[in-house]
Amino acid sequence: MMNPMKALVFDGKLHLERSYPEPGIRPGWAKIRINSAGICRTDLELTKGYMGFKGALGHEFAGTVEDCGDKEWVGRRVVGEINAACRECEWCAVDMGRHCPDRTVLGIMNHDGCMAEYCALPTANLCTVPDNLPDDRAVFTEPVSAACEILEQVDVGKKDRCIVLGDGKLGILCAWALCTVSNDVTLVGRHESKLERARWGGLNTSPSSEKQPDASADIVVEATGSENGLAQALRLCRPRGVVVLKSTVAAGGELNLAPAVINEITLVGSRCGRFKDGLEMITKRDLPLNRLIDARYPLDEAEAAFEHAGRRGVLKILLEP
Ligand SMILES: [Zn+2]
Ligand SMILES: [Zn+2]
Repeated sequence: MMNPMKALVFDGKLHLERSYPEPGIRPGWAKIRINSAGICRTDLELTKGYMGFKGALGHEFAGTVEDCGDKEWVGRRVVGEINAACRECEWCAVDMGRHCPDRTVLGIMNHDGCMAEYCALPTANLCTVPDNLPDDRAVFTEPVSAACEILEQVDVGKKDRCIVLGDGKLGILCAWALCTVSNDVTLVGRHESKLERARWGGLNTSPSSEKQPDASADIVVEATGSENGLAQALRLCRPRGVVVLKSTVAAGGELNLAPAVINEITLVGSRCGRFKDGLEMITKRDLPLNRLIDARYPLDEAEAAFEHAGRRGVLKILLEP
């Protein structure tokens, strides 16, 4: 019989459960005590029925390994990749576990998440957090890695003109990641308060009411989360440029891809990134991540925290023990 723990559970309804079973660990897995967990847009969408998920929510965390067959890990502070791959299929064989068709995904698909006292992941997913990196920065590893994925997929040069559409957390993090490479990055968004928080290093910001010139960018990142973001991105991208798609909104509307053909634009779908890259970016660069934190709640008040995260204009809410 497993010990009971507190967990924020979605089973058609969102509620804090006080006697949810602690995760058991299989060989090669670690049980992790959660020090900090972030609420993200995906979590809000899951509670609206996205993916049909049921269980403990949460995929952004920093924690400490409490139990593991390999005692080397016990006591280490860690963050963890969210995709737990089968390690047997042809995708896994070529080190593409993030695309394994049999994977489970922490707090998203067939796998209890980290808005709880504990979660469990394979040790292969874990990255050790450097001693000087606090939990409330390490907890951003997942979204920062997703932003760094762009640098992995697209060859961004110092002089490349980059435009990021969307001033949500992911848009801001993508803009910051691009800023570490290019000297010409503009974040376009609708909320002056968010644009203000985003200004860092050489980043330019622009309200979406101000029209950017057509075909002016070498690279456009679409992170608006809205249906017409792609059309706008295609308009701003120069011929033979690159449009990176970060929004997962299922566009039900009409999609005109003719501009992509006429201007020979490369479309790049972009999702998660490698935690090693995200962690390195957070450790080596002084990204002002604290500016993205709107509030911190104890796990006991997770329901209130969730409600806060869903309010307009809110960027990051953290859950702490
Ligand atoms: Zn997330
Ligand atoms: Zn696999």
